[in-house]
Amino acid sequence: LGSSLRGSLDKLRGKSRLSEEDVAEIVKEIQRSLIQADVDIALVQELSSSIEERALNEEPPGGTSARDHVLRIVYEELVALVGESTDLPLESQTILLAGLQGSGKTTTAAKMAWWFSKKGLRPAVIQTDTFRPGAYDQAKQMCERAEVDFYGDPDEEDPVEIARKGLEETADADIRIVDTSGRSGLNETLIEELKSIEELVAPDRNLLVLDAAIGQGAKDQAKAFGDAVGIDGVVITKLDGTAKGGGALAAVDQTDSTIAFLGTGEEVADIERFEPNGFISRLLGMGDLKQLAERVERAMSEQEAEDEDWDPEDMMKGEFTLKDMRRQMDAMNKMGPLSQVLDMIPGLGGGLMDQLPDDAMDVTQERMQSFKVIMDSMSEEELENPRSIGKTRIERISRGSGKPEETVRELLEQHKMMSRMMKQFQGMGDSDMQRMMKQ
Ligand code: GDP
Ligand code: MG
Repeated sequence: LGSSLRGSLDKLRGKSRLSEEDVAEIVKEIQRSLIQADVDIALVQELSSSIEERALNEEPPGGTSARDHVLRIVYEELVALVGESTDLPLESQTILLAGLQGSGKTTTAAKMAWWFSKKGLRPAVIQTDTFRPGAYDQAKQMCERAEVDFYGDPDEEDPVEIARKGLEETADADIRIVDTSGRSGLNETLIEELKSIEELVAPDRNLLVLDAAIGQGAKDQAKAFGDAVGIDGVVITKLDGTAKGGGALAAVDQTDSTIAFLGTGEEVADIERFEPNGFISRLLGMGDLKQLAERVERAMSEQEAEDEDWDPEDMMKGEFTLKDMRRQMDAMNKMGPLSQVLDMIPGLGGGLMDQLPDDAMDVTQERMQSFKVIMDSMSEEELENPRSIGKTRIERISRGSGKPEETVRELLEQHKMMSRMMKQFQGMGDSDMQRMMKQ
């Protein structure tokens, strides 16, 4: 399917205006991919009309080809379809998991606990499933594997009572994840039980756990759970299988929520934070997104877009974040040590290099590896705004990454140093320099 979308796009090469047939053909290809990925027909229709509407009525920004123009619209509409990631601040909170039996709640509870522990927080899982035999043992074992606190009581029959005790017993935890029982289908007992637990726990967030293979049932399920307790976010599990999870988008739409996490396997570490780009690429097939992204990047640099995506120009303006630093570290891994890279830039050789302390460029492989692990324990906000990282956050990041606080501070120092360096590059306007940064 990837090749047919590419084929339709290639036909636009050299064109400066889009015809109705051009747009219809592209929309048809996208529809085909999305329907194959189980995306609800009504949502696909909505997306198609928006794309058609915009592609035919919006004036392409000056110098943008018809193809780049339509690609940008397609991309933006796809991002609007899948939504942003559910906001999950790295602070104390209680999260309730709801969903049908077998959707992956218990597994997700342990995975999420593991994820939060890697961010330096102390999570605990409270297992309230008294319905499924073996639920207690399963949850306990998974939490042992995740090395997180666990509360459950195999002898108690009342899930609300377990929740009540569980909250008391896990008072020391930062993040409390309340796992609930499911039933094979939607029914009154399940919903009433869930409501009672929710009332007692008063969670900060209710997440609905859905199997990636969910098809048309997603909407009804989402409505039932949404009406009962309100849904703030969705977790899509079993994305390691053949299903692409497009069905879950109907649940997101129905509950007016967003996607929080993706489950990609049976082990506790098989969890990813939802991220629109990656999910779109899963929906359409990798090749397509790659082309989309490349094209869109070009289209955007052509029209000084104030986009949240990484733009090398920002770096040249001195807004150098930890994310930029991580990208640079990745690039360096491919290019060789930073000092050598800098040596390759014409006109830079002596001057600037001499002003830097001797060990400034000494980012060894080992240190880079540590830095990466540390950055993985940071929140998006911290990566974007390293100045927000104070003493408490350093402690938390150190716990999460398993690296000494000293190393976290070194990373922040290194970032400051590189940031100063970027400021010095400002105004150089050297096209070679910019080309290097773009790599
Ligand atoms: P619950 O009934 O909602 O608590 O669901 P469970 O957490 O018990 O999961 C049901 C089954 O799905 C178990 O066999 C899990 O190992 C499996 N499972 C859960 N999440 C994933 C996933 O992301 N990938 C795969 N392959 N299996 C999963
Ligand atoms: Mg369970």
